[in-house]
Amino acid sequence: MRVCNLSSGSDGNCTYIETEQVKILVDIGLSCKEICSRLAVLNVKPQEIDAILISHEHNDHIKGLDVFASKYKTKVYVHEHGIGAVYSKMKKALAQQFYQFGDFSFTINDLIIDNVSLPHDSVHCSGFIFENNKRKISIITDLGHTTDVILNKISGSALVYLECNHDVDMLRANPNYSASLKARILGKNGHLSNIDCAKALEYIIPYGTKQVMLSHISRHNNTPSLAYKTVCEYLQSKGIIEGRDVKISTASINISTIFKLN
Ligand SMILES: [Zn+2]
Ligand SMILES: [Zn+2]
Repeated sequence: MRVCNLSSGSDGNCTYIETEQVKILVDIGLSCKEICSRLAVLNVKPQEIDAILISHEHNDHIKGLDVFASKYKTKVYVHEHGIGAVYSKMKKALAQQFYQFGDFSFTINDLIIDNVSLPHDSVHCSGFIFENNKRKISIITDLGHTTDVILNKISGSALVYLECNHDVDMLRANPNYSASLKARILGKNGHLSNIDCAKALEYIIPYGTKQVMLSHISRHNNTPSLAYKTVCEYLQSKGIIEGRDVKISTASINISTIFKLN
């Protein structure tokens, strides 16, 4: 598997995953043009993309979907509870391009795709777990809190993209955010804080996670270095050492490290 995050955060989310037999995108929250130029960096043509999986209908996850899918006739996969909300935002993409999945895993060629429902203020939000050649990776963003079901599903993933959205004190002190917006982000169906991300990692790392990408980092209520520091210090206090037990990096709005898992 070759995996690369093309963009992460509230300005747009998109991750590219490739196996020997399949090339997919998870979310497409940048313009079609921008996605194509980032795929070109990976030497991938947009018409080679076999499928786009969508986590939920928020614009930072579907911005480029309508143009890309209609232009390149790409298949789009969305959970059965969220497909209506995503499709209602389309103008050009055809209904027959949309495929729904339920709460069970399915395959596209040699890629096994499992999903887990995430608590978020969208109609439905999916986290994804991918498996190929017995190597597992997970992409879990846009969730207000973790649950045992989520943590157990992603345990055993060699690579995890996990939301590390905000520093709680920075968000609370932000004068530009209304009280209601702060309550939304901090709520059970909002976004995952740095410390809650760290606690989730404390649980899953002993099951074999070797690489973590802190994802969907807020531009206004967090910084990559603060997210990294908070997570590493918390894990260190629990005896998990970054660099020794696990590697931790931050995802940004720019194309990030390409991971190869085989
Ligand atoms: Zn988002
Ligand atoms: Zn969202």
